[in-house]
Amino acid sequence: MPTSQLNIQAQSGKQYIYSFAGGSADGDASMKNLLGGKGANLAEMANIGLPVPPGFTISTEVCTYLYDKGKSYPEGLFDKDIPEALKKVETELGKRFGDPDDPLLLSVRSGARASMPGMMDTILNLGLNEKTVEGLAEKSGNPRFAWDCYRRFIQMYGDVVLGLRPADSKHIDPFEEILEKWKNALGVRLDTELDAGDLREIVNAYKAAIREHTGKPFPEDPHEQLRGAIGAVFESWNNERAIVYRKLNHIPGYWGTACNVQAMVFGNMGEASGTGVAFTRDAASGENVFYGEYLMNAQGEDVVAGTRTPLKIARLEKENPDIYRQLDDIRTRLEQHYRDMMDIEFTIENGKLFMLQCRVGKRTGLAAIRIAYDMCMEGLIDEKEALRRIEPEQLNQLLRPVFDLGEKQAAIDRGRLLATGLNAGPGAATGNFYFTAAAAEDARNRGEQVILVRIETSPEDIKGMSLAEGILTERGGMTSHAALVARQMGKVCVAGCGSLQIDYKKGELRIEGKDIVLKEGDALSLDGATGEVIAGEIRTRNSEVIAVLADETLAPEDAPVWKIFDQFMRWSDKYRTLQVRANADQPDQAELAVRLGGEGIGLCRTEHMFFGGDRIDAMREMILADDATGRRLALEKLLPYQREDFYGLFRAMGSRPVTIRLLDPPLHEFLPQENSEIEELAGKIGKPFGEVKKRIENLHEFNPMLGLRGCRLGIIHPEIPAMQVRAIIEAACCIKKDGHDIVPEIMVPLVSTVRELEITSEIIHKIARRVMAEQETGVQYLVGTMIEVPRAAITSDEIAKAADFFSYGTNDLTQMGLGMSRDDSGQFLPAYHNYDIFDRNPFESIDIDGIGRLLKLSAKEGREVKKNLKLGICGEHGGDPASIEFCYKIGLNYVSCSPFRIPVAKLAAARCALM
Ligand code: ADP
Ligand code: MG
Ligand code: MG
Repeated sequence: MPTSQLNIQAQSGKQYIYSFAGGSADGDASMKNLLGGKGANLAEMANIGLPVPPGFTISTEVCTYLYDKGKSYPEGLFDKDIPEALKKVETELGKRFGDPDDPLLLSVRSGARASMPGMMDTILNLGLNEKTVEGLAEKSGNPRFAWDCYRRFIQMYGDVVLGLRPADSKHIDPFEEILEKWKNALGVRLDTELDAGDLREIVNAYKAAIREHTGKPFPEDPHEQLRGAIGAVFESWNNERAIVYRKLNHIPGYWGTACNVQAMVFGNMGEASGTGVAFTRDAASGENVFYGEYLMNAQGEDVVAGTRTPLKIARLEKENPDIYRQLDDIRTRLEQHYRDMMDIEFTIENGKLFMLQCRVGKRTGLAAIRIAYDMCMEGLIDEKEALRRIEPEQLNQLLRPVFDLGEKQAAIDRGRLLATGLNAGPGAATGNFYFTAAAAEDARNRGEQVILVRIETSPEDIKGMSLAEGILTERGGMTSHAALVARQMGKVCVAGCGSLQIDYKKGELRIEGKDIVLKEGDALSLDGATGEVIAGEIRTRNSEVIAVLADETLAPEDAPVWKIFDQFMRWSDKYRTLQVRANADQPDQAELAVRLGGEGIGLCRTEHMFFGGDRIDAMREMILADDATGRRLALEKLLPYQREDFYGLFRAMGSRPVTIRLLDPPLHEFLPQENSEIEELAGKIGKPFGEVKKRIENLHEFNPMLGLRGCRLGIIHPEIPAMQVRAIIEAACCIKKDGHDIVPEIMVPLVSTVRELEITSEIIHKIARRVMAEQETGVQYLVGTMIEVPRAAITSDEIAKAADFFSYGTNDLTQMGLGMSRDDSGQFLPAYHNYDIFDRNPFESIDIDGIGRLLKLSAKEGREVKKNLKLGICGEHGGDPASIEFCYKIGLNYVSCSPFRIPVAKLAAARCALM
């Protein structure tokens, strides 16, 4: 047998289709990679006996096959596998696809591994044509319903499969236009007011539009329809908005989507039918209440589209207690089964409930934390699982500012409260509002904080949403696109604010019943916790957690969120092995770091200490001095300041370790550039203007970042580190006399060869010994280096011999390792991102394959020479969860980050230890 034939056989032997029906399924929830999230959970729900309309999932492998093999499907898919699976559905329901008397209708739904809300396409009511629509009308006894289904089907099919959907939100969908025209002509407002005859006319108009656009009639053959819809679902994986969404969410293109083909159930059969979406708990606050929205006599996306304002699930309890009980029971069963908060989609057909989707629900950071905490207390999950449940970044939302309540009240008292919408995404946002994503982006590039205001958002707006501080919509509920996406991005969102009157064309925002006109670009404030929309800017203040930690004016008992936060910090401390320090230069920052749980200072940048008050004058005098004696004189003036700074820092830190970096930046950064300032300085240090100006010009370097800086400064001018070391050791002696034991860690910057470190160490030891003798006290101290030059990283075995510790200065290491200036990278990194050159900005998240490799090698070789070499990281990356995971894996002792990142870093560290 020829090999090509063998291959075909092997391929057709592979399972591409997975059926599900009430009580059993081929797949289950663990098979997301193959079935997509939607397919896997439909199977799981069927397996646990929930009422799921029968159907089958065509696996993601078909999607990847399609893209790999240049638009061809696996052998036998359409002539054998799909018909077989369809047969099962027909048997289960006792209906036939295409049967003119009693047609089985299908939905064709996309569904990737990770949920991508609204990014890809779904087609409902597939299988309708001129004949079957009559059968459906007859069988249901409801012609209006049948024609409504047909109308919707043609619209979805026309948009998605036949390409009539406009490419951007600036153009109106041709079908919407036809529908509006008819409604206006008939003088009705809602779709539900159209009768069967109207709908039949609209269907004809739709079909005419399709013929005009494609040159072909609308396909009548249900099988042709099915093939077209399946193809369109697979193709939607690579539509533009799906690609943008994947980029933003780091979802790889090779995953592909699955395609679910499922029997239709009908929520638009009349007032005993309906459709809805719900969360098993409140997705904004995390509270343990059933939260959702529904609409009677509606289908599909009606609830989330925002065209009709949906009703709250609590209302269903009153209007239809029986359905509500079924739903509430499913809510409990799902939570018990999945042990998580779930997001569900359901449809009621003539009083009977069907489940159409479930997935782990997206939530705000606050909700994530509260739900994990509550579920742990309810015994559904243990504390380790609670830690795994929250993304470190989500903790940030608890630390984010809220409005200054006094200022907000004052604004309201002055009549600035414009409207109140739904509190869809908590937090406080203030900024200038814009109506389009593009205008928001431009304003953002001008440095403005922006609020995106839209009638409703659609996936095209995600870029603008991601740049905005807050999002405000006129239409749509708690489960609208705007609300879902905002919560996921951690943005402030007020949705469904019906009294807004948005005029995109004029760029004006009016409020119903109010005599106010706002212009695009005006300031607006959103309170995402209450849904209030307020004109003008409002100052923000510390969140509850920060208020407890930093101010201590709020008692912990009055701070329920703080209590949960605190518990998570305790759990993190219990499991993590990586220590977390802070980058801090001043005593107040150090205090904040300690309150936020910092276990030391990983980087104190001493240059910041030379700017305040008249210190800068002494510093400038030192730099401009003619000789070492002059420098020493000026340094003597600086010494008491430095000693006091270190003393304050040590005191704030108790006995926690403090790493102090010796002076690092090039000297020109301390010098004035303007003539008037130079003149003033000349007066102060008693030198002629011309001479000072000339000295400053002489100090000019072609590339100051690579010039006389770092350890080179101390080698050329040893009196600088000498003064700094004296200040450090004197301060440590004082602290010791106060009864604390501090072990300062003196860090030499920008070392590239071991000799540089040896020379600097000699200076350090000489001065330290001298000071201790003077003070008649002994203090312990360590001498180490920052590893930030590639040469240092690759000669770490040498350098380790002269160092007690290494601290990875990954900002410079990234700059030098990539040969890329951080400050200039804004010009090209966005383009780089589009080319997939870096997955994440290498200055935010460690470039694991390159710079990470330097770190790994350095850590390994350093430890081989010195087993107890202390290793840490003090670059920006120290607060980034992905980088923290990397640091954990290569065995660092600690990460150091800005004080506000400490909680995030601790949680990230705990999660590494639990992996
Ligand atoms: P998305 O991924 O955008 O949520 P879905 O595939 O879930 O898209 O489909 C959108 C909506 O279409 C669902 O919420 C549901 O209301 C409706 N729908 C999908 N399948 C069916 C079905 N078999 N019967 C009735 N309605 C359906
Ligand atoms: Mg859905
Ligand atoms: Mg550096």
